[in-house]
Amino acid sequence: METLSSYVCGKWHEASEGFQSLVDPSTGEEIAMASSAGVDFAAALAFARETGGPALRALTFAQRADLLKAMARALRDRRDELLELSRINTGTTRPHGAFDVDGATGTLAYYAGLGKRLGDRSHLVEDEGVQLARTEEFWGRHLLVPRRGAAVHVNAFNFPAWGFAEKAACSLLAGMPMITKPATATAMVAHRTVAIVVEAGVLPPGALQLVCGGTGDLLDLLGPQDALAFTGSAETAAYLRDRDNLRRANTRVNVEADSLNAAVLAPGTVAEATRELFFTDVVREMTQKTGQKCTAVRRILVPEDALDQVEAELSRRLAEVVTGNPADESVTMGPLATAQQLEDAERGVAELAREARLVVGSGERIDGVGSPAGRGFFFGPTLLRASSADAGSAIHRREVFGPVATLVPYGGSAEEAAEMVGRAEGTLVTSVYGDDSPWLEAFVAGAGATTGRIYLGTERSAPAAPGSGIALPQTLHGGPGRAGGGEELGGLVGVRFYLQRVALQGARTMVDRIAEGPSAGVE
Ligand code: NAP
Repeated sequence: METLSSYVCGKWHEASEGFQSLVDPSTGEEIAMASSAGVDFAAALAFARETGGPALRALTFAQRADLLKAMARALRDRRDELLELSRINTGTTRPHGAFDVDGATGTLAYYAGLGKRLGDRSHLVEDEGVQLARTEEFWGRHLLVPRRGAAVHVNAFNFPAWGFAEKAACSLLAGMPMITKPATATAMVAHRTVAIVVEAGVLPPGALQLVCGGTGDLLDLLGPQDALAFTGSAETAAYLRDRDNLRRANTRVNVEADSLNAAVLAPGTVAEATRELFFTDVVREMTQKTGQKCTAVRRILVPEDALDQVEAELSRRLAEVVTGNPADESVTMGPLATAQQLEDAERGVAELAREARLVVGSGERIDGVGSPAGRGFFFGPTLLRASSADAGSAIHRREVFGPVATLVPYGGSAEEAAEMVGRAEGTLVTSVYGDDSPWLEAFVAGAGATTGRIYLGTERSAPAAPGSGIALPQTLHGGPGRAGGGEELGGLVGVRFYLQRVALQGARTMVDRIAEGPSAGVE
C-alpha cells in the first residue's frame, strides 16, 4: 500500500506514525495512508519565506508565467495517470475526473497566458495616478507588490487537482511561495500532482511544498505577510478564521465555502434551446462528480405552473444515470468519495425530506453497478419537491454534498425568485434560464448581491454555454456570506490576494518613474 509523504524543505518526508487510511470509494478497500507526523512546520514556513519567496520575486511576471506553463505541460503529459488515481481515490468516472484534472491544467495554462501579457515587470500599477496638491509636485498612484510571506493553501476533498492548481496559479504568478495541503481522504491525486511538478524540476526551491495529513502548528505560525487560502466547509472555515494569531496579525485569509446554488427557470414562454439548456445543465450539475461540487445545483426554482412538467422531465433524465463503480464502462456516476460523505448525504436528505417530498431516489445508500453488494459509498440521484419556498429552512440552508437537489415553486416574479436565491445567505453561482430581458435585468438587480456569479442561460448563449458548474479562471469564483466571502480566479482578482497594495505619493516625475520604470507597466 502506498504511503503518501509530504514534500517540505526540498525533501520528501515520510511519517512513521499517525496514519489515516485512504480508500477506494467504489469498494471500500484501503489503498494508501497518509500522515504529516514529524513535519517541522516552522522550518517549512522559513524555507518558503526565505528561499522560495526571494527566488520567485527575482522573476518577472512573464518568467513566472513560464513556470506555470511548464507545470501545465508536465501535468498534461501525465493526464492518464492522474485520471486513474482520481478513479481509485475519489470514485470518478473518466469524464468527471477530467473535469478536475483538465480544469487544473487549463487554469495553469490560462494564468501562464495572463502572466505573459503582464510582461517583464515585477509589480503592477493599478491606476494612472491622481494630483494630490495644487501642482503635480504631489501626486499619488497605487502599486501592487508581492507579499513577503508564505501562502498556505488548504483544499477540499472534491477537487484534488483543480483545487491545487487554481490556488497555485495565482500564488506563484504573484510571486508568493506556497504550501499546499489537500484534504487527506482524497490526497492521492494532489500528492501525485505535486510529485510530477517536483520531478519536472520547473519551480525554484521553496516555491512549492506539500503537506499530506494534518497541519500541526502550521496555521498558528502564520504572520502578517503570510496568506491562508481555504476551501472547505463553512464550519471548518469559521474555526480556522478564528485563530488568535491570524486575527492579531491580520493575516490575509480567503475562504471558499458551502453554497446552496440555485437554478432558476424564468416564467412564461422560454425558447426551446433555453429550456433544453436548463434540463441539461440541471442534470449535469446535480450528478457530475456525484454532486460533490461547490458549484452544484442544490435548489431548482420553477414557476408554480411549470412544476409538474419540470418534475416529470427531470425524473425521466435522472433515471438514465447509471450509478456504480467507474471501472464498469456502463457507469455514468461514481460513488460518494468517503463513508463520511455517504453518512452526511443520508442525514441531509432525511432533513430535507421533513420539508419536501422525495420524488427520485430513496435517500439511502444503494448498491452500485459493477461493485459487490453492500460495498462502496453509492448514492443515487435524488430529487425532492417542496410545496412552497416557505416549506422550511433546510431547503435553503442544508447543503447535501451529493447528487441531491430540491424543486421549489415560486410565483413567477423576478423579485420573488431573487429573494429566494438570497435565502441561502450567500452562494457561489446562480443559473437563470429565460429569454425575457427585462425579467432577467430585474432578477440580476435583485440577486446580484447575494451570489458570486450569475450564469445567464438564453437562446443565444445555449450553443456555447459550458454549464454553470465550471469555475472559469477568467471570471470570479467565490461568493458572499455563507459561501465564504472570498474571491478567487477572475483573472487578476485572484492574483491580487497575494499582492500588497501600496500607495505611492510624491513628485509626479518620481512616482511615475518608480511605477513605470523598466520593470513596471499599467494594468
Ligand atoms: P472540510 O472538512 O472543511 O475540509 C476542508 C479542508 O480543511 C481539508 O483539507 C481538511 O483537512 C482541512 N481541515 C479540516 N479541519 C482542519 C483543521 N482543524 N485545521 C486545519 N485544516 C483542517 O471540507 P471538505 O469535506 O473537504 O469539503 C467539502 C466542503 O467544501 C463542502 O461544504 C463544499 O461546499 C466546500 N467546497 C467549497 C468550494 C468553493 O470553492 N467554495 C470548493 C470545493 C468544496 P483533512 O482532510 O486532513 O481533515
